[in-house]
Amino acid sequence: MKIAIIGAGAAGLFLARALEGKGHSLTLFDHKEQAGKKLMATGNGRCNLLNTNLSSSFYSNKEFAETLFREYTYQELKRVVEEEWLCPLMEIGDYVYPASLSGIAFGHYLKASIHANFVFSSKIGDYAIKEDGVHLFHDAKEEVFDELVFATGGMSTPKFGSDGSIFPLLQKHGYAIKPLEAGLTPIKVKETSGLKGISGVRLKALCEVYVSNQKIYEENGEVLFRKDGLSGIVIFNAESILVHLGAKEAKIVLRPIPSFQKDRATALMKWKEIAPTAYLESLFVPSFANYLLERSREEKVPLSSLLNEISFTYIGHSSFEDSTISIGGVSLDEIEDDFSSKREKSVHFLGEILDFDGLCGGYNLSFCLASALKKAKSWAKD
Ligand SMILES: Cc1cc2nc3c(=O)[nH]c(=O)nc-3n(C[C@H](O)[C@H](O)[C@H](O)COP(=O)(O)OP(=O)(O)OC[C@H]3O[C@@H](n4cnc5c(N)ncnc54)[C@H](O)[C@@H]3O)c2cc1C
Repeated sequence: MKIAIIGAGAAGLFLARALEGKGHSLTLFDHKEQAGKKLMATGNGRCNLLNTNLSSSFYSNKEFAETLFREYTYQELKRVVEEEWLCPLMEIGDYVYPASLSGIAFGHYLKASIHANFVFSSKIGDYAIKEDGVHLFHDAKEEVFDELVFATGGMSTPKFGSDGSIFPLLQKHGYAIKPLEAGLTPIKVKETSGLKGISGVRLKALCEVYVSNQKIYEENGEVLFRKDGLSGIVIFNAESILVHLGAKEAKIVLRPIPSFQKDRATALMKWKEIAPTAYLESLFVPSFANYLLERSREEKVPLSSLLNEISFTYIGHSSFEDSTISIGGVSLDEIEDDFSSKREKSVHFLGEILDFDGLCGGYNLSFCLASALKKAKSWAKD
């Protein structure tokens, strides 16, 4: 088959890799000058490709995730990458990386193992489905393909290429697109007083999220303070969950020392008269100790309660420029189980372009990989 893949990012490259040696003629089009720019920057440069626990609970649409990951379990994805693609992986806790621990090396490996025609700095104009195939109008040319795959991502970090520029074309062809919002991104809070002084400080804490006094999420992890809000993996996950809920305001509670908080509170009672700063600095960096003292004074809250509960009001999140993923995209109602369009059988959608997303921890690349393998398998059957 002659296959056109629009978008040489994670999903496009995974599909091309999965189709390698299967006798197809592949052309990957990308409007950037290079393939896999975002993939190479993932996981802080290490590329967190998979997670050993691919539970549907980490995804926005549980039913869709369950069906896909029942077939593409962690073991199966690992088997394909290691045994079929000959690319060893490394597990660090639940997170799984290429053994090189390098997104750049993984990107190079993928590109070197794909024999496809790459068209960079490409401009996709339109497409038309005709009897002899899909006519793709690109770069002032018209080319006919058997299949057309859209793997152009969403709108997060547009500097890597996914800028949402394909959506108007898809809307023109009648596809339902759920409006996009930045996901897995830092949040903005109301209580900004003093945050400038602790910008860049990291705190291990239990993070709880409340909407209308109901606890909707909790996770242990590291929170990074910013001058206008909070960041870090637990905050990214909380943000995505709030966006999915459509919550405009929420309470974020950080419990810095949950496990031994009672002992510490007792110790604090002893210490507080003598030298509260010294006590706090036995637990935190000086700037954060100072922040707690100031907050305790300003809000007239005892230090012992503040140590158990530092509250913030969520009032919004950062933009696409700062986000790990985008939430929204081509509706899942538009596609069959094998990722082909229900209306235009020779059109397919893979990866983040779809209205489906996961939390931090390798879940989004796992989806790109599973969706690409499922697509490749459906063509192998045909
Ligand atoms: C900094 C960062 C770190 C991340 N780390 C992780 C991680 O460790 N683990 C994880 O699971 N997920 C991670 N993610 C999320 C993950 O990278 C994405 O979910 C994934 O890359 C989506 O793959 P995709 O192929 O659908 O889209 P992209 O990777 O965004 O690729 C889309 C491609 O399409 C091209 N394109 C877009 N529009 C057009 C157009 N009109 N014409 C032609 N080409 C076009 C783009 O140039 C791009 O090359 C991270 C994201 C970021 C930003």
